[in-house]
Amino acid sequence: MKDIFDEIKFGKFTVPSRIVRTGLWESQFDSQKNLTREIIDRYESLAKNNVGVIITELISMYSHDRFSDYTYSINHPFFIKEFKEVVDTVHYYNVPIFAQIGFVNCNVNGKQMMEVNDLTVEDIRTIQADYVMAAKKIAFAGFDGVELCIGNNFYLSRIMNPFENTRDDDYGGSTYNRVRMVLEIIKLIKNMTDLHIHCKVNLYHDEKDSLEICRILAENGADSLQITKFLSPQYFRKGQSNQDMLVDFASSVSDEVDIPVVLGGGFSDMGRINNLINDSNIEFVSMQRPFVKDSSFLSQWKQEGHGKSECKTCNNCYWKKQSICLIESNK
Ligand code: SF4
Repeated sequence: MKDIFDEIKFGKFTVPSRIVRTGLWESQFDSQKNLTREIIDRYESLAKNNVGVIITELISMYSHDRFSDYTYSINHPFFIKEFKEVVDTVHYYNVPIFAQIGFVNCNVNGKQMMEVNDLTVEDIRTIQADYVMAAKKIAFAGFDGVELCIGNNFYLSRIMNPFENTRDDDYGGSTYNRVRMVLEIIKLIKNMTDLHIHCKVNLYHDEKDSLEICRILAENGADSLQITKFLSPQYFRKGQSNQDMLVDFASSVSDEVDIPVVLGGGFSDMGRINNLINDSNIEFVSMQRPFVKDSSFLSQWKQEGHGKSECKTCNNCYWKKQSICLIESNK
């Protein structure tokens, strides 16, 4: 019988639970956008309270990206120094930590808001070079891995989307061609660093094609996958039906690949998660908002053998772009 607190392998790491903490907005930095003690303490609380793998809040690939006001930037002059402190704090508790990187708007080589079909090969090489530089910084800071945001609404997810990418060169057409740009990024990062590469990938409208994308990623260097979906306002309203769809898809992906597959999608109840992992071949589940509500709740679940997060899934923290619970702070 599987339990969320099984000690289990995640790639080369042995982790204390099947729960992956994903981060979203960074809202507690100071006016210079430096990490504050509050942020470092939050990571420490996650690490000492039975999280299996910690993924940072989003780190923007570009300083003037759509969400960069609410995120740390990979180009911050003190990125390595500041995150080394976070990483060292987490490693004290033997928990792996991955840096989450992504971008939404494509503004490279002096061009603005480029559509997927308009990218030149030179633009693609520029983006890939930027990813290599980012990965090197992440490795220097001591991170164990990097999460490539190639799902949700991030730009690299649009390149893999068959409805958006209608290119007729090596970067469009077949499924493999649409994934090629990401595969080249993975290969470059692997050549330069030892980072575990975790890919957050979408279930697109075409499920068969989405499954093929996951298979290609797994066979070409991705070390783990996180299953997610395009985030529309409807996504947040539909709740349960979204979750069921993602469960079915994550289960199909788990059958297809030999690397860890993490299911996202708003789980917050220990009993439900244990039922899910025992009734399917899904091994890992990610959570974000429950950790915004309380970064230490997993220890209580472990001690009591049951539990449900107090997060009301109101999504205020998501919409207000803050990693603090607005229900709690308005009391
Ligand atoms: S603001 Fe809402 S969604 Fe966010 S942590 Fe609090 S209760 Fe949960």
